[in-house]
Amino acid sequence: MVLSSSLGFPRIGAKRELKFALESYWAGKSDADALLETAAELRRQNWEFQKAAGIDHIPSGDFSLYDHVLDTIAMVGAVPARYAWTGDRVGLDTYFAMARGAQTGSLDVPAMEMTKWLDTNYHYLVPEFDSDQAFRLSSTKPVDEFLEAKALGIATRPVLLGPVTFLLLGKFHDGKTEPLSLLDRILPVYEEVLGRLAAAGAEWVQLDEPCLVLDLEEAAQTALAPAYDRLSKAAGGTKLLVASYYEGLGSNLPTAASLPVDALHVDLVRAPDQLDALIDAAPERLMLSLGVIDGRNVWRADLDSALSTLAKAAEKVGRERLMVAPSCSLFHTPVDLDLESALDAELRGWLAFARQKVREIVVLAKALDAGRAAVTQDFAASAKAVKSRASSPRIHDAAVEQRVASITPEMTRRPAPYGERRERQRDILPLPLFPTTTIGSFPQTAEVRKARAAFRRGEWATEDYEAFVRKQIEESVRWQEEIGLDVLVHGEFERNDMVQYFGEQLSGFALTQHGWVQSYGSRYIKPPIIYGNVSRPKPMTVKWSRHAQSLTDKPVKGMLTGPVTILQWSFVRDDQPREDTCRQIALAIRDEVQDLEAAGIRIIQIDEPAFREGVPLHRADWPAYLAWAVECFRLASSGVRDETQIHSHMCYCEFNDIIESIGALDADVIYIESARSQMELLDAFTDYRYPNGIGPGIYDIHAPRVPSVEEVEGLLHKACARLSPEQIWVNPDCGLKTRGWEEVRPALANLVEAARRLRAEVSSQ
Ligand code: GLN
Ligand code: ZN
Repeated sequence: MVLSSSLGFPRIGAKRELKFALESYWAGKSDADALLETAAELRRQNWEFQKAAGIDHIPSGDFSLYDHVLDTIAMVGAVPARYAWTGDRVGLDTYFAMARGAQTGSLDVPAMEMTKWLDTNYHYLVPEFDSDQAFRLSSTKPVDEFLEAKALGIATRPVLLGPVTFLLLGKFHDGKTEPLSLLDRILPVYEEVLGRLAAAGAEWVQLDEPCLVLDLEEAAQTALAPAYDRLSKAAGGTKLLVASYYEGLGSNLPTAASLPVDALHVDLVRAPDQLDALIDAAPERLMLSLGVIDGRNVWRADLDSALSTLAKAAEKVGRERLMVAPSCSLFHTPVDLDLESALDAELRGWLAFARQKVREIVVLAKALDAGRAAVTQDFAASAKAVKSRASSPRIHDAAVEQRVASITPEMTRRPAPYGERRERQRDILPLPLFPTTTIGSFPQTAEVRKARAAFRRGEWATEDYEAFVRKQIEESVRWQEEIGLDVLVHGEFERNDMVQYFGEQLSGFALTQHGWVQSYGSRYIKPPIIYGNVSRPKPMTVKWSRHAQSLTDKPVKGMLTGPVTILQWSFVRDDQPREDTCRQIALAIRDEVQDLEAAGIRIIQIDEPAFREGVPLHRADWPAYLAWAVECFRLASSGVRDETQIHSHMCYCEFNDIIESIGALDADVIYIESARSQMELLDAFTDYRYPNGIGPGIYDIHAPRVPSVEEVEGLLHKACARLSPEQIWVNPDCGLKTRGWEEVRPALANLVEAARRLRAEVSSQ
């Protein structure tokens, strides 16, 4: 029998149950029991759904209250000292203190650093290690959840984040030591967990090692086999599956194929070509889990094509050695397409979310086992969808294709170089040293969200809603003037989300009602679905920006999301290259930039927080991506006069290795996150001698705490040690929409005060 598995299932609940339970708990409105009960209920639903659907290897331990890397930090007891953790097990308070920071009686600590999980928009907490780092089993979550499922009568395959990936994703305090040097110290904890899982009756355990798709250094390559040798022994009769995903194994293929484990999972959606080499390299004892259903996108599978891949593999290695799986855990896809009653039937027919993908996996396993006839209806429906999508007039727009074809190099260049632009901009934009500003959004209060929801449901007339937004903008402009910010924003009150808002107004995009996926913790996003050619029927932001600017003499920034980010944070078509779609989006944003300029907006910010996450996992693929991504940003931003200042923003990523491309964007000012890493991220800009303006984020907006004036000043001093004062802008490290006004007001006031003190300091020198 061909085994089927899902590798992992969304944790958040079809209707975001986990988010609401978490936020209620954090707000003190419900207790831990209520939170844990919701969590258990979600796990039960996921297990029972997959069991009923016919999945053979149902995952457990894929659930997380916040983040699976944080769960692993807890499992191995790698709690940084500042969280003052004592005791045997990591409890909820310590767990959430690491995730979100804490300001309680005795404890005032920021959260752990967060960064993007490989090439996804999921954020994980970065493990931190010390030279005297010790590990010990400090959370039995994997075993507990396995037993929890077992008690429900469901045998599961526990999922652990593998030790090599866990260490490689972490960082040493000294910034020098290789985390992998800790492998011998961490393995005993994994051995203990595997021993316990074996004793509890686990037949299989899945160890996720996505590091296998990175360009691994030799040390990591050679560390893998001995580590897995130990783990296999510790697991006894329990079988181990090692999972790679998001890319092909590349040069790690021989290493991966010879690991002393029972099965290896590979991503055949991203890297279908690796199958033949893998089959050649894999020893006979190794089962192959073939990821043929796209875990990163929402398109309904072409079952015939997937089956032919599987059948070819079966011919060579035998069916009994195969498992059918999604390319990666399904947690990057929304839960259930059946909830999308507002999508038209044609489009819905083209899609599959996690629950539908589970069905596809089971169908493929059955077809491989018993022939297509056993599941003929599913195959017929899939073939029909594939055909309908390929031929639908909705995905072709000749005017857009024509426009993309006539892009010229001039369109991607500002008329004058930065130095000249800077002089011209100074004339029309008199700003002090260390100009203060924010990244765009202000707190999305219950009132704002309610108004938007009421408008969306048709309960509010357009006029009333627009009057409401105008009033919010007016209040925020007044307030920003009062506290003394230099460059203002309108506040983004009309936006639910920085991508969704544009997706709703651009052609070629569809929006879902419940298509949420986890971004980090309790923050979920609802990526739009790009199904056709993209264009902008009419201006999207101009009326709000014009209104905001009419209220003040200070400059108000126009606020747009960049083409790369819109692409990255959408579910994109898989029937044309990503770069083609990106160029279409860039042209639409370019139109908007020009309209903003014509409306008298002197600074236009084009956010690209997802620029870094689009960087391919294999170095060899970087130049091609960076070339088209930079081109698209410049295409969007270069259609303006030299006097118009273009700003950009990126967050939560490593900048070092793409610094030249960041320079090549040629934005007049770029804001980057840096607060959590204590300005460390600026080193790249210093070494590169980044010439343009730069705003290192000095207020960590992902944590619910207010930095003091001294703290901000301290960070600014660190920034001054790395950059010239003329370059530096003073701002939070991201938008403020997730924060409350009670934190934002004092924090921004402190920020303005810190900038004043610095100005005084610099001018007295
Ligand atoms: N302008 C956006 C905001 O302030 C930027 C958000 C982001 O970078 N993620 O919300
Ligand atoms: Zn940001």
